[in-house]
Amino acid sequence: MGTRAEFRCRCGEVRGFVADASPRAVNRVGCYCDDCQAFAHWLGRADLLGAQGLSDIVQVAPASFAFEQGQNRIKGVRLSPKGLYRWYATCCNTPVGNTLTPSVPFVGMFAAAFDQGGQRADAVFGPPTGAIMGKYAVGEAPPGTTGVRLPLLLRVISRVLGWRLRGKVWPHPFFTRGNDAPVYPVNVLTREERDALRPYCGPHPAASA
Ligand SMILES: [Zn+2]
Ligand SMILES: [Zn+2]
Repeated sequence: MGTRAEFRCRCGEVRGFVADASPRAVNRVGCYCDDCQAFAHWLGRADLLGAQGLSDIVQVAPASFAFEQGQNRIKGVRLSPKGLYRWYATCCNTPVGNTLTPSVPFVGMFAAAFDQGGQRADAVFGPPTGAIMGKYAVGEAPPGTTGVRLPLLLRVISRVLGWRLRGKVWPHPFFTRGNDAPVYPVNVLTREERDALRPYCGPHPAASA
């Protein structure tokens, strides 16, 4: 049995919580991919990226995630027609969750969203267990972050599969049960808009944020 972990956007207008939060209930994985970097730059929130462009992500079960206020501020963006749904709070451009459709049930949240008051993501979810997509890291790829990280991958897949099997998909915070329609407006970037973000991203950014 975990604790209830509160999260909020930077300005505090959007708030919610993850129920039953514990290291065993989540995947905490860092991602260096250029899509995650591009998303932060698109929001004007490069401050969320760690060293070498790292996104520090906590994946939780959709049914464990609930908004308490500010839902009218939520919008989604996809960097390409088939890309992840990247949900964010429009009040202050804070990411609130990355998802696929409900058939692959997870919500990937920036760990920093849980650092508030006396609460720390590290204490609630444990430290990061690894990172992936190191070939896009700004500069040299950090050791152990490139290629197929089989143990890490298997852990992530088995947890997501477990959520699906154990009925942790619904209620899903971002999709409607029955037709899987997004709850909030979603914008898909054009190819030109997506390409305009590439100079800011690893491995060798041509522009600075
Ligand atoms: Zn806000
Ligand atoms: Zn990524």
